[in-house]
Amino acid sequence: MERKTYFVDVILPIAIPKALTYRVPGVLNEQVGVGKRAVVQLGNRKLYTGIIQTIHETSPSNYEAKYLEALLDDHPVVNDQQLEFWAWMSKYYCCSIGEVMTAALPSSLKLSSETKITIRDKSFAHWDILSPNEITLVEHLKVKSPIELDEVSIITQIKTVQPLINSLLKKGVIAVDEELRDRYQAKQVEYIRIHASLHDHKDLELALNQLAKSKKKLSAVMAYLQFVRGRHDSGEWMDKKTLQQNASVTGTIVQQLLDKNIFENRFYEVDRIPTAEATQDVTYTLNSMQEQALGQIKRLFTEKDIVLLHGVTSSGKTEVYNALIEDQLQQGKQVLFLLPEIALTMQLILRLQRRFGDVVGVYHSKFNPQERTEVWHRLNENVRYSVILGARSTIFLPFNNLGLVIVDEEHEVSFKQSEPAPRYHARDAALILAKQHGAKVLLGSATPSVESYWHASSGQYGLVEMLHRFGNATKPSFHVVDMKEEQANKRSVAQFSSILISQMRKALEGGHQIILFQNRRGYAPRWQCETCGENPKCQNCDIALTYHKNKYVLSCHYCGYHTPPPPICPSCGSGALRMIGFGTEKIEDDLLPIFPDKNIQRLDLDSTRTKNAYSKIIRDFENGEIDILVGTQMVSKGLDFKNVALAGILDADRMLNAPDFRSFERAFQMMTQVAGRAGRGQTEGKVVLQTKQPDHWVIQQVIDNNYKALYAAEAQERSQFKYPPFYRLINVVVKNHDRNLTEEHAHELAFRLRNHFGEMVLGPEFPSVEKLRNWFQMNLYIKFPRNYNAAKVKHTLVECIQQFNGESRHKKTRVAINVDPV
Ligand code: ADP
Ligand code: ZN
Ligand code: ZN
Repeated sequence: MERKTYFVDVILPIAIPKALTYRVPGVLNEQVGVGKRAVVQLGNRKLYTGIIQTIHETSPSNYEAKYLEALLDDHPVVNDQQLEFWAWMSKYYCCSIGEVMTAALPSSLKLSSETKITIRDKSFAHWDILSPNEITLVEHLKVKSPIELDEVSIITQIKTVQPLINSLLKKGVIAVDEELRDRYQAKQVEYIRIHASLHDHKDLELALNQLAKSKKKLSAVMAYLQFVRGRHDSGEWMDKKTLQQNASVTGTIVQQLLDKNIFENRFYEVDRIPTAEATQDVTYTLNSMQEQALGQIKRLFTEKDIVLLHGVTSSGKTEVYNALIEDQLQQGKQVLFLLPEIALTMQLILRLQRRFGDVVGVYHSKFNPQERTEVWHRLNENVRYSVILGARSTIFLPFNNLGLVIVDEEHEVSFKQSEPAPRYHARDAALILAKQHGAKVLLGSATPSVESYWHASSGQYGLVEMLHRFGNATKPSFHVVDMKEEQANKRSVAQFSSILISQMRKALEGGHQIILFQNRRGYAPRWQCETCGENPKCQNCDIALTYHKNKYVLSCHYCGYHTPPPPICPSCGSGALRMIGFGTEKIEDDLLPIFPDKNIQRLDLDSTRTKNAYSKIIRDFENGEIDILVGTQMVSKGLDFKNVALAGILDADRMLNAPDFRSFERAFQMMTQVAGRAGRGQTEGKVVLQTKQPDHWVIQQVIDNNYKALYAAEAQERSQFKYPPFYRLINVVVKNHDRNLTEEHAHELAFRLRNHFGEMVLGPEFPSVEKLRNWFQMNLYIKFPRNYNAAKVKHTLVECIQQFNGESRHKKTRVAINVDPV
């Protein structure tokens, strides 16, 4: 019998416009399938792992198809809906489908020649589970690890080693590079609790009596009981290290208690969120506003696919989400819950896990990558997870039965990926994903994006409002402080107005906590020479270096370049260097002499670099061990603390004066979110807002909590000046290491684009920061009405840029397309 010849189109992880066609060797005819990984050769030598997009019988007309080298999977790792979603994304965001694939797949599913592999456990000895080739490789890895895939070929004398690597990955013997490079390397931490057999009071007493002679063992048990406030049967896990510290006992003592079955233990990987078992006490009854909102959402879902929930801070949106999730679970559907930055929303994750138990999966690049792969496979095989929580890349998971997508804090800019391609907006992409699955979407925010609110007002989305805070919590009251006046009258101390200080005193005397917000980390954003005005800049970027006092460096917040502060001005030699502006570090410093006996803590990127630092600060604040929390936008997001009486916004002007058509929207969002941290419980909330423009209309809307007025003014402004959502924007960035070439090529490209788009092309212009990481850049914009054929514009744009890139003169110039820039 004659065998058929099949061809496959394989998506490769590189920026080529299309999938490439390969010939299937007859022996693989049975195994080949869409969504499976194929190992193929590109060029002369390099092997790549790609995903099979289609199977067909047409050989390519303009090149000789090579045979594919191997297949890695028995079952597809990517489903049809995902492939369709990738295709949409590559079209909409003007990038290659290979770039989408690279963003979508977890690292262990991507094997290229450069992939580094490492043995997980050097003392590995389960030789019986390995094939002869695997044994050869593992023996080698025990001596030298990590090694590159290319080396594996030499060691094993096999040309196509990916299947071998894949098998060892599956067996858990090795790991691939990205998993190990990650600074959140998985580390096991031991947790302790009272043994389940002692949950009965009498049994515990009996066991404790036996310990009476050993003071140390008793104090170890006591330390645990103290931790759970006497509820020995709570089942809560306590970190063994903390237990040892609190009880001043050694690990040996704890081990003996484990041996006696008084304690039991469990190992968690650090940064893997412990899966909590669902407990009943976290199911709340909704109040009437929540009930009403829930009813409205459900009703709107019968006629619309998308609903916007505008609920003021602390109105209780989460419980409404929970009720909707519950519904979906009962119908056997999957729920995708998107959050802007997952590290900042630990509280919410724990809340959901307590409520729904271990069907809740978390997907995030900062957590253990091994777990990411696990979540992927489990979803793909349809086991365990039905609620997936995560940041933007979660939209790439292999969903197969999605019923609902919730996008919390939908206005957040971090949903948009700006570098590298695909430059996608996870909220917008989620709308498409949901549509593919026939799922509904709920967008939630206290300060919706102008875009979403516009869709809601024009009837495209449903709109539901929750305009009061939950329970007795009232909306915070505002003190707007005119800093011009304060400074003129010399009333302020450092960057604190007299009113802020007196309000802080009051809050602290009442036993309450304070959050201070300044969206700038470091000590001082700029050093300046008083004699000649010179300020030290980054050598790679056109930007002033920020002074960090703790580490005593000047550092660049774009590229990470850092250098010790110069003792004298590098340009004129003067010793009179002055610091300008203030960041969180300086605020913390300046607070110390004012509140010497208070506990002050900083929450920003710098104070949360080490493992678990973020959760520790949050925990300490929650437990009342911190009186004043100073931070960047990290303090503004989703935190729910009952005892915060005062929120201080130290410098509203920087937000209001940002050179961006969204600056007022942003400033409103940021200030409203910060204000929303105060007065969430029984405590009355106050906000002190420092500004040099106390009469600014945006500040007035913040005080009145009047989102609608803000929206109306913004919508009017944007429609008049032709900005989103009324117009669409595409940003084209031209980069070169040479400033002149950047300018020359940008103008050349603009000229060509004008041939197609005429007036719709704006620029090119240098942005305020013209050099970043040694690349000069110029911006071009294409701006066109919403009802214009966007697909056609993009098609022409991409063709034009491809041609431009193909010309050898432009070899050293890079052009990036950013659709819907934020
Ligand atoms: P939002 O997300 O809208 O800012 P949250 O969902 O965090 O508000 O709710 C604010 C506070 O009210 C939280 O502390 C939450 O636990 C509490 N809360 C909300 N709904 C209920 C309810 N139905 N019963 C009891 N407490 C609730
Ligand atoms: Zn100088
Ligand atoms: Zn830099």
